[in-house]
Amino acid sequence: AAGFDVVIVGGGAAGITVAAQLRRHRTTLSIALVEPSETHAYQPGWTMVGAGVFSMKQTQRRQETLIPPGVTWFRIGADAFEPERNAVILADGRRLTYASLVLCPGLQLDWNRIEGLQDALGANGVCSNYASAHAEYTWRCIQELDGGTALFTQPAMPIKCAGAPQKIMYLASDALRRTGRLDRVDVEFCLSGSVLFGVPFFVPALQRSIDEYGIRVNYGHTLTAVDGPARKAVFSAIGPGGQTREIVRDFDMLHVTPPQGPPDFIRNSPFADAAGWVSVDPETLQHTRFPNVFGLGDAAGTTNAKTAAAVRLQAPVVVRNLLAAVDGRSLTAAYDGYGSCPLTTAYGRVVLAEFGYGGRIMPSFPIDPRVPRFSAWLLKQNILPALYWNWMLKGSELDIRHRERTFEKAA
Ligand code: FAD
Repeated sequence: AAGFDVVIVGGGAAGITVAAQLRRHRTTLSIALVEPSETHAYQPGWTMVGAGVFSMKQTQRRQETLIPPGVTWFRIGADAFEPERNAVILADGRRLTYASLVLCPGLQLDWNRIEGLQDALGANGVCSNYASAHAEYTWRCIQELDGGTALFTQPAMPIKCAGAPQKIMYLASDALRRTGRLDRVDVEFCLSGSVLFGVPFFVPALQRSIDEYGIRVNYGHTLTAVDGPARKAVFSAIGPGGQTREIVRDFDMLHVTPPQGPPDFIRNSPFADAAGWVSVDPETLQHTRFPNVFGLGDAAGTTNAKTAAAVRLQAPVVVRNLLAAVDGRSLTAAYDGYGSCPLTTAYGRVVLAEFGYGGRIMPSFPIDPRVPRFSAWLLKQNILPALYWNWMLKGSELDIRHRERTFEKAA
């Protein structure tokens, strides 16, 4: 067994950021990063891929170019844990022991929970921005659509970037409108939930886009099966009386957001909470039972919006508290639940939703965030990707929020 001061499980947005910051704060630490994938993706860019603004390639880099110098990369998945021995078991049976452990393997996309979906994706108008292999096909579907029905689905929460299922719907509608096809297409939003967005503050702004494009919203609709060649989608729908019935719909385009949950190896581990996520204190991000273990990112059992924006603010908290725990000091850094969802309501227009625990509005800029803006689009298209690659993943910290502003009275 190889022993390290810190073992990080997962080298996505959270894992690379934490590794880079730990190196900056304390160069003497021996750090292992466990990450099976050769490529690292800027997933927030995938909405733009589906909308024909970015290519998939533009959102991806080789993992080895991102791993901070001095960090030992294990190019394999973690499989299990033995916390009483401070050990991580890798997929090939090797064991790594740690003084501190950071858990950030993201969440699991459960494509298989929708019958026929896996086979249907990538043809017959069935696409998903949540799959690196199929996000570019979304744009082809939008370009080729000329009449009929376009369905956009959203599963039960929590999912990563809760706004993403409707972002692509608005961009598709805008693309159709600009080319004179929107009148011939029925655009429908089929969502499991009963509200457009979890933070009520932003709902009227989104409802305006729904009305403007003439989108029909079907609440309480959960996609259960897809037949690609027949172009049929099956939904389980909750009726007005609360009874469930099956609805079969024809479609010409179907954008699917898959059901999501904690990775199985976390769910089945001693680190899981009742729902299967990494059980951490929502503020310190320290594990609730194992003080030398921390969790962040999509895998964490916290109620913030699961976004890269949240990771940006969680990473410094984990790094500070992990080092404090190592030094025997008390944990003073606290995460306030910040997350951000730049809602693309049209090409060149973004509602920059930024909020913390309990839906507290936390805008970075002193302007009403409910107004769709071109400046926020530029942030999404140009600034945030550069910030991610050149700043966040390099271990720089950035927090420019105007916490005191609430905008309750404006607009
Ligand atoms: P990830 O970045 O997903 O990384 C997890 C890593 O763990 C992966 O590299 C994976 O290979 C690895 N891993 C998996 N299993 C194992 C294992 N067994 N052992 C070791 N490693 C493992 N966020 C925003 O901030 N703004 C947005 O506009 C936005 N839009 C989005 C749109 C889409 C379509 C999608 C899919 C996501 C979007 N997000 C957005 C969400 C954002 O990408 C995630 O919240 C963010 O990547 C979470 O970081 P993470 O490190 O927790 O997980």
